[in-house]
Amino acid sequence: MVERKFLADEMLGSLARWLRIMGYDTSYARDMADNDILSQAQKEGRIILTRDRQLAERASMDGMFIQSDDDAEQLRQVIRRYALYFDEESTRCARCNGLLSIKQRSEVESRVPPRVLERQEEFQVCSLCGQIYWKGTHWRDIRKRIALALDRARVDNSPR
Ligand SMILES: [Zn+2]
Repeated sequence: MVERKFLADEMLGSLARWLRIMGYDTSYARDMADNDILSQAQKEGRIILTRDRQLAERASMDGMFIQSDDDAEQLRQVIRRYALYFDEESTRCARCNGLLSIKQRSEVESRVPPRVLERQEEFQVCSLCGQIYWKGTHWRDIRKRIALALDRARVDNSPR
């Protein structure tokens, strides 16, 4: 199965972060002209996600026009259209799209608040920006939001 890769336009920063958390390689087009967005997407085999109808039309099959300005709804639409799934073990850095690698407590000791160190055993560190992640209480909320979007995308697909 081919893994989808995306390029989100400037208006879709939040959607880009959710897709990264779901494990999808998602670039973010900041300050980029339409032509550059199109050529980068083509070069890297990315689907353009955009709120600009004209840009989506130019991208044709490799673009998706995102109508809603609600991020839960945006995520639902993309999940539905590209049949995305969520593998908790393959999340990427929400901040920069880097790959995460698993680290033990001793390896991040000096960079994590003691409170967190006490409770968590496993951490993930971004290979590009160094951001440290752990699956604390906020992870439950993230998981819930993604599960909800997946559910709603599925309901939509069922025959009426
Ligand atoms: Zn990062």
